[in-house]
Amino acid sequence: MFDLKKHITAASVDEAIGLLIENPDARLIAGGTDVLIKLRHGKQTFSTLVDIHGLDELKGIKIDGQNNILIGSGASFTDIIQSDILKQQIPMLCEAAQSVGGPQIRNVATIGGNICNGVTSADSASSLFALNAMVVIRGDGTLRQIPISDFYLGPGKVDLKTGEILTSIIITPENYQGFFGHYYKYAMRNAMDIATIGCAVSLKTCNHLLTDFRIAYGVAGPVPMRCSKTENSVLNKRVSQNLIEDIFLSIETDVSPRTSWRASREFRMNIIKELSKRVTKEALIRAGEQL
Ligand SMILES: Cc1cc2nc3c(=O)[nH]c(=O)nc-3n(C[C@H](O)[C@H](O)[C@H](O)COP(=O)(O)OP(=O)(O)OC[C@H]3O[C@@H](n4cnc5c(N)ncnc54)[C@H](O)[C@@H]3O)c2cc1C
Repeated sequence: MFDLKKHITAASVDEAIGLLIENPDARLIAGGTDVLIKLRHGKQTFSTLVDIHGLDELKGIKIDGQNNILIGSGASFTDIIQSDILKQQIPMLCEAAQSVGGPQIRNVATIGGNICNGVTSADSASSLFALNAMVVIRGDGTLRQIPISDFYLGPGKVDLKTGEILTSIIITPENYQGFFGHYYKYAMRNAMDIATIGCAVSLKTCNHLLTDFRIAYGVAGPVPMRCSKTENSVLNKRVSQNLIEDIFLSIETDVSPRTSWRASREFRMNIIKELSKRVTKEALIRAGEQL
């Protein structure tokens, strides 16, 4: 059924790194909800799996002494939905996790696997872009931390060298404290469907001015993306219906959706524009603004 030579269960992250270096044709498996589909469809270029699914050192969700939120790459979407820290501090990320697949998928699929597969439709990615998340990557005696926007190199391609493992995701307090956000996934079906467009907004207001505004999309380009032209154009403007209209008018200058079997470019553009309004409006209402 699966054309697999070896399945090796790693007892630690260090051991997994060693196994990847010893077996250059190996692929990591966390939840396996992407990797096993590839194997089943015979699309794989690998025949050995290094299994990190059981590693507790990759699973926790915690806040450190500097109020950084640390999410282990092996946290499942159910772990994220049920995390008191995330429910209180970053409910937008729980919304994104809730929109993934069905309960069985959410129980095993990990946030690490979601971003390491490099696809633009990954539901957690746009929220992580809006949160300026950092990703922590361990290799053979190396440790590096880079912004998630640098992690995506192209469709299906992320910045992981041989032997490297994504160990955690960090969200610093200046990127979540005082922010209000919302994630919305537009898909052709309500359940078990990949996003046609995903949109995350995270914002701050002060005295009814929009003092910080981040809007990120999945499937609006080859990789998840922020919309910096629109973000900059509305900064420190007064919250109003006109402001939401300005965002709606500007957003198409930032994005480059494409036609696929799922939806045409034109249809995606309409959804992108509509979501810019609706998701921003919901985030503003959560911030206590009256619209
Ligand atoms: C029925 C079904 C429905 C789905 N619905 C959705 C959906 O609605 N939204 C969505 O975004 N996705 C969806 N997916 C895709 C998939 O479930 C997610 O992308 C999931 O988060 C992948 O995580 P995983 O742990 O299963 O990854 P795996 O399949 O284990 O791995 C995915 C890739 O990441 C690599 N990898 C995994 N962990 C690490 C790590 N720590 N360091 C380095 N590389 C790593 C693997 O080598 C592999 O290349 C669906 C899949 C299925 C089968």
